[in-house]
Amino acid sequence: MTEVVGDRGDVSRRDMRAFVARGGGARIETRELPQPGPNDVIVRTTAASMCSADIATVKGDFDFATGSVDQRGIVVGHEAIGTVHAIGELVEGFEIGDRVGAASTSPCGQCTNCQRGFKGHCGGTIWGGYTAGVSRDGYLAEFYRVTDARENLVRIPDGVSDAAALLAIDTLASGSSGVEAANIALGSTVVVIGQGHVGLAATVTAKLQGAARVIVVKNRPGGEDRARALGATVTLNHTDDDVRAEVLRLTDGAGADLVVEASGSTQAFPLAIELTRLGGTTSVLSSYDGAAESSLSLPIEQWGWGLGDKTILSTFQLCGSERISRLLRLLESEPFDPNVFFTHTYSFDEVGRALTELGDSSVGVLKPLIQFR
Ligand SMILES: [Zn+2]
Ligand SMILES: [Zn+2]
Repeated sequence: MTEVVGDRGDVSRRDMRAFVARGGGARIETRELPQPGPNDVIVRTTAASMCSADIATVKGDFDFATGSVDQRGIVVGHEAIGTVHAIGELVEGFEIGDRVGAASTSPCGQCTNCQRGFKGHCGGTIWGGYTAGVSRDGYLAEFYRVTDARENLVRIPDGVSDAAALLAIDTLASGSSGVEAANIALGSTVVVIGQGHVGLAATVTAKLQGAARVIVVKNRPGGEDRARALGATVTLNHTDDDVRAEVLRLTDGAGADLVVEASGSTQAFPLAIELTRLGGTTSVLSSYDGAAESSLSLPIEQWGWGLGDKTILSTFQLCGSERISRLLRLLESEPFDPNVFFTHTYSFDEVGRALTELGDSSVGVLKPLIQFR
């Protein structure tokens, strides 16, 4: 543990309040304030958000629920911003009080996968860079620790609101990855299957990357205004529409240049392949972990019998301070309203209710904004 004094911050405060998961539930508890290792920064939280991954953490779907970690519990959360409170001895470029954030995936930047450009899989394991609230204490607390700060931490421009910054570090970082990796041409036609927060982020990214048509697909009607506000030009749903026929009709039978599969449904994967034109790209933004099936089905004829030049991409969040800085600069130019994503606001004292309501589809929380001040 590093002793930190003077311009590296005040570490005299010892306790904080944190949202801790243990034994299938979560509540606010008093916890020891984290101390910075040499490469870390401690952030005093000002605002945070949550997504379905936090629900999975609390349910115990991730690895932490074993042995002594389970006894101690784990601080939930991976989406937060705040101000610099303490700085590890090897970290340069930040000052106490700087307004900062870091992507929800926080890689080391030095291992083989990081150096190959696959930072999400830091350490050699799938999602290995995603540690906050999974294998170490997360960010839903009055203070949190950003590891490898020079790799991960960014200053937030003054012109970027809390909502915009929170969107950049997780939802947009993830949702934009599948479109950015597909490298679409100007004027492309893009289909996005699934319009949860990640699918909506893919929708707005497709628009910003020059798609002429963005066709979005949901299971049921609802949320069309939100999708249109983010650039959807056609909204379809499986309840009212023959999605396959309609997409083929809109594309003169060819299919879309890019189909983003962001619904998380294994049934949507073969549809995504089918709706992709010859020479086009199917980009998977879903995690199918926990699916009842152990494999995805690939429709061979619609894949072009193996000769269709259809590319299948799978991406995990593109992260690191350089990329997050770019997303913040993008949001500073106000290309869309980030408040479209934040449907409900809570205080930190209400974080338990926020989590419950996020998991209750009848409440209609897309993303909660958790305020700490
Ligand atoms: Zn998240
Ligand atoms: Zn790494």
